[in-house]
Amino acid sequence: MAELEIKNLNKYYQLGNKTKFHALTDINLTFEKGELVSIVGESGSGKSTFMNLIGGLDSDFEGEINVNGENIKKLTDKELDEYRKKKIGFVFQSFNLIPHLTILDNVTIALTLSNVKESEKVQKATEILERLGLKAQMKKKPSQLSGGQKQRVAIARALINDPEIILADEPTGALDSDTTLQILDILKEIADDGKLVIMVTHSEKVASISSRVVEVADGKIISDKYKSDYKKTKKHKANKLVAKQEEEQISKKKKTNLSYFSAIKLAFHNMWASKVKNFLIAFGVAISLVSLILMLSFGSGLTDYISGLADSYTNPLYVSISKSKDENGNQSNPLNPLGFDKQEEIDSLIADINKQLEENGYEFRATEENVSYGFNKMTYGSASFTFKTNEEGKYDENGESIANKGVFYVYTTPPYYDETKMIVGNISGQNEVMFSKAVTKILGYENDEDVIGAKIQINIPIFGINTELAVDSELNLTGNPTISGIVDVSNMFENFPVIYVSYNYLQSLIRFTETTTGKNLGFYPYSIYIRTDAEETTNFITNYLNSLDNYSGSVEQQMVSMFTEMISTISTALAIIAGISIVVATIMILVVLYMSVTERTREIGVLKSIGARRKDIKRIFSSESLLIGLLSGIVGIVLALVFGGVLIIALKAILGFAPISFRWWYFLVALGISIVISILAGLMPAAKAAKLDPVESLRHE
Ligand code: ADP
Ligand code: MG
Repeated sequence: MAELEIKNLNKYYQLGNKTKFHALTDINLTFEKGELVSIVGESGSGKSTFMNLIGGLDSDFEGEINVNGENIKKLTDKELDEYRKKKIGFVFQSFNLIPHLTILDNVTIALTLSNVKESEKVQKATEILERLGLKAQMKKKPSQLSGGQKQRVAIARALINDPEIILADEPTGALDSDTTLQILDILKEIADDGKLVIMVTHSEKVASISSRVVEVADGKIISDKYKSDYKKTKKHKANKLVAKQEEEQISKKKKTNLSYFSAIKLAFHNMWASKVKNFLIAFGVAISLVSLILMLSFGSGLTDYISGLADSYTNPLYVSISKSKDENGNQSNPLNPLGFDKQEEIDSLIADINKQLEENGYEFRATEENVSYGFNKMTYGSASFTFKTNEEGKYDENGESIANKGVFYVYTTPPYYDETKMIVGNISGQNEVMFSKAVTKILGYENDEDVIGAKIQINIPIFGINTELAVDSELNLTGNPTISGIVDVSNMFENFPVIYVSYNYLQSLIRFTETTTGKNLGFYPYSIYIRTDAEETTNFITNYLNSLDNYSGSVEQQMVSMFTEMISTISTALAIIAGISIVVATIMILVVLYMSVTERTREIGVLKSIGARRKDIKRIFSSESLLIGLLSGIVGIVLALVFGGVLIIALKAILGFAPISFRWWYFLVALGISIVISILAGLMPAAKAAKLDPVESLRHE
């Protein structure tokens, strides 16, 4: 049986819808092992077309191409890949080495595509490269070799799988005459080793050393001559140039296709070859990830901060009730809250709560024992206190008086405040007040301790104590108290002067009068505190209050809900911006990968000629997009940590607090997103690469 038998081969190229070009006409040829055949003919006569058909790069033909008696037209796509991988070795005029791989990797690529293990690959390649005089060049890149050396590498690559047929399309076309002879000697030797070598050539001289010359013109064979003087120098000396083939002992179970690991390794080599470009892409994607991480961290930082504030103000065993709306529908707000108008209002609310508790099986009842009151109000305008100091600025009863005016927040000490809330000093009692840290500075002291024990004169008019009497009422907080302590009001209000007094002391201090008549109008609280028996009871009462129209939890709770609403609006807006930048990043990766496919069209053609399946090509390109995703994710995480860290330090220095809370899963989400978007972005380019026609790709400039 002939090694290669071609029967009635016809090839048409489809030009337009109706027009066809008849490139090869009725070719009938038979080739045997050990032949070195030259195909000669004018340019455009159909030589390459013929080679591509034999090589299984193009299976669109009429007639038969029988290799060992089997028509390759009948092969499935998979079998055809296997055919190219195992039976055929291609050598091209322009070498077609893969520039970013070493000589060793270029030679072993066909074995990599067959998932041959590393040690075996290296051993085979070393043997072949040594015989071709290239052992010293193994670690080099193709660009570091001369033309002749490159072509020898290409021959080594063609031989690595011990194919039966070597197809060389103008292998010496790009070489000078000396190197041409070298290459011809090698090809001759390969034929002598018992392989069928078919080469296309223009050169008479080249043709003259072959065993047979087939001449083609206009797609037809016009002559087929055997050289009688052709000497088989080393007749069928098996395994001269070819690495010793171990018996095909590969079990059927063993995967003989490109492994994921090798695909990633190949992708890594390619990415490394254009590392600046890839790093810039990763950097671009990383920026969008940084913005995502920081925006999420900012949202949770603010929420943490606000709920931390709320926690510091509240106690799970206390219900605090405030008015959210008055009879006229006016909304209470944290800076100007509403007070309770009458004792009857308070009594009926307490009774209502007790009824709810009873109906729902709670044993706890709100009674005089556990109900207390609170007051809070912002004051401004003529609010002032007087403080006497000596020359050193310390408190001195006989010293000079300094009057301070400004905005104050008057607050009664909640019943659950204890020593843990104190920066220094004690909870105030009768004839005592506490201040926030800001007052230390207002009084001109450096240390909070120095303020303790100082006496002050307070005169703070509080307007608009309740809605009904708002316009013409005045509440004067006047007295001569001692400062008992400094309260920790949390970072947010640290710079804001807050005066804390006990509710009882406040009641004894204030005069609440109608401005025009001077009539005492009585004093009602702004908040009601109920000390419960359990957190569950607190939650029950709070939920009940929140279901009511006019009442709600504490002012602090109102503040928290106002802020959290704001934060969620801001976070949503920020997340949308981050989302847009991620979409942009995805498109960027897509464009870059598309360009990469176009740039590497020839490489894809080479891989296909070596026997790479569509799947393998897809795998290599997908691995590349995966690597870009991974790299982007890692760069993004590092940048977010660095940038976020700097931001935290800066904000702490400027504001005294930094509302940025990293959560570990934000980083995981960012990494996940970058991997997902890069894989998605890689789908289309990888599919495009896989679909490329091998013949066209090889012709690509
Ligand atoms: P050679 O290798 O002998 O120079 P080719 O085999 O490359 O010639 O081409 C043979 C003929 O087929 C030429 O006329 C060429 O223009 C034509 N041809 C080759 N490839 C295509 C194609 N993809 N579509 C249409 N015509 C083609
Ligand atoms: Mg050609």
